[in-house]
Amino acid sequence: MVGDEAVSDSRYKAFGPKVWKSVYSQANSLLEEAAVTLAPFGGLTANAVAHLRSDWIEWGDEFVKIRVPKQADCNQWKMVGGDSLVSERGRPCRYCKNTGATDGFENLWRDGSGPHRYVATLHRDIAEPAVDVLERVFSVLARSGMYATPASVGEAPRRLLPDCESKYVYPKLLRTGVSLYCYYGLETEDIVDLSPYVKDTVVEIIRATPEVTQKKHNSYSYLRALAEREPASAQELASELGVTPDPVRGTLNRLKNSNRVEVDKTEQPYKWSIIGDWTAPFVCDTCGYQSPTLQGIGSHKRAHDE
Ligand SMILES: [Zn+2]
Ligand SMILES: [Zn+2]
Repeated sequence: MVGDEAVSDSRYKAFGPKVWKSVYSQANSLLEEAAVTLAPFGGLTANAVAHLRSDWIEWGDEFVKIRVPKQADCNQWKMVGGDSLVSERGRPCRYCKNTGATDGFENLWRDGSGPHRYVATLHRDIAEPAVDVLERVFSVLARSGMYATPASVGEAPRRLLPDCESKYVYPKLLRTGVSLYCYYGLETEDIVDLSPYVKDTVVEIIRATPEVTQKKHNSYSYLRALAEREPASAQELASELGVTPDPVRGTLNRLKNSNRVEVDKTEQPYKWSIIGDWTAPFVCDTCGYQSPTLQGIGSHKRAHDE
């Protein structure tokens, strides 16, 4: 499969947040941007990115979801030079023709388990780079699809890395979602929800990527630190907690979604404050269960869904 080659050594290695940021900042074509954002944040294969269509996307206020079907038609159009020129395709792309049981798109994953549905969830704050690309393709350019070939999506990010790193770039980008979500302070269980990997794989990726260390703080330590110095910026809180500002912003946004903190955007940098009693537990609205942390109530609520 394009971009999904099995890698024998360092099978689980992902790019660390620094390398990813450098790759992302160099991306300057639609395909490069789509590959370096939708692979990590959405866990989309090069095949799914290439055949992505507007009717797979659900635009929510907090999340954007991509519902990748088991099967679909191949692209009706293809890009011809530049980001905005397209012409009619006429026949299925080589990838659709040569893989799976049909001449159309089939969502296959490397484990050989056959075509399956997949839902990618993009958090508007944390996965903003991926949401930006989707908005450009489907709102600004008003296209009905990505109209790319899986090979061109798989190849696109290769140029952005030095030669020694340019092998297996796409599978590494797929695993990099784990590294980025980890950097943003998400717990393993949350990362499993947002990635195409099972828990054991997520754990292996974290272990194989030394640039990533999982958070040492939880929502309780964030709220306590904020209570001591509110109103405070993410930067101030980060130096208080001894971490980098990006993951702090991620956690503050999640606390805001739970109505535990509020943000004043009238001045730069934004100032964050506590709402109510910072020591109050997080409560499950289904059964009343209480947990002292956002992470704790998150795993509890997931148990209801199972
Ligand atoms: Zn195709
Ligand atoms: Zn409950």
